[in-house]
Amino acid sequence: MVNQAEVQLSINNLSVSYGPIRALKGVSIEVRKGEIVALLGANGAGKTTLLQTISGLLKPISGNVYFKHLEITRKEPEKIVREKIIHVPEHRQIFGTLTVLDNLYLGAYHHYRKSGKKKLEEQIIQVFELFPILQERQKQLAGTLSGGQQQMLAIARGVMANPQVLLLDEPTLGLAPIIGKEVLELVTELNKTLGTTVLLVEQNVIASLKAADRGYVISNGEVVKEGSSKDLLLDDEIKEAYLGQAIS
Ligand code: ATP
Repeated sequence: MVNQAEVQLSINNLSVSYGPIRALKGVSIEVRKGEIVALLGANGAGKTTLLQTISGLLKPISGNVYFKHLEITRKEPEKIVREKIIHVPEHRQIFGTLTVLDNLYLGAYHHYRKSGKKKLEEQIIQVFELFPILQERQKQLAGTLSGGQQQMLAIARGVMANPQVLLLDEPTLGLAPIIGKEVLELVTELNKTLGTTVLLVEQNVIASLKAADRGYVISNGEVVKEGSSKDLLLDDEIKEAYLGQAIS
């Protein structure tokens, strides 16, 4: 049982607008240390908006975000990165003309000067253990990797930042189901191996609930359901809405 005192991210009554469009309406979510929490919902539900607000790219009109006991609402993204809340955005955004290894080094940019070269090399070894395909392809230009490998690189680059919380935006987007499954298995493995807390945004509801401990369903900017993954997987409405979607 995870202790209440170990809350890593606490999002309270958060509302975010794009001009007249209200994308989030009083969203409250909690992520505890060591958990994988899935944030589920259809296109346009507000999932990306929530991640971008946590990582400081968007400023809310009301509500707040806490990382442990520190309020991070409206802090600049570079300050939030320093707290080791690392956002792996939708569509990967890796540097295609750089090698796999250089992309990984860039992930450690913020803490490299503080932690030094030795620590960096240790981290590369750790990342290669988790993502052996990236070790094999380390000298290859990132843009020449397959879609699944590029997604693994995007996540691995996030891991290089030594995250306490990893915000993953649709890591299976555009991937064949079998590759998407591999990516989600890797997320579970890095959570188990490194203890990294993960907030996972997905449209693949069934597959991501299988990887997650708990989940929240967002619809039209509001949380409409929450619970343990086990309960949500048994939920009739969820089964009805998403049946057949599983990455099996
Ligand atoms: P998707 O899976 O398509 O990324 P999502 O659940 O992540 O969906 P958001 O991208 O957060 O949803 O969008 C939430 C709402 O905000 C939608 O109605 C969307 O059209 C709107 N929205 C998102 N970005 C902008 C923007 N830059 N300007 C105006 N409206 C936006």
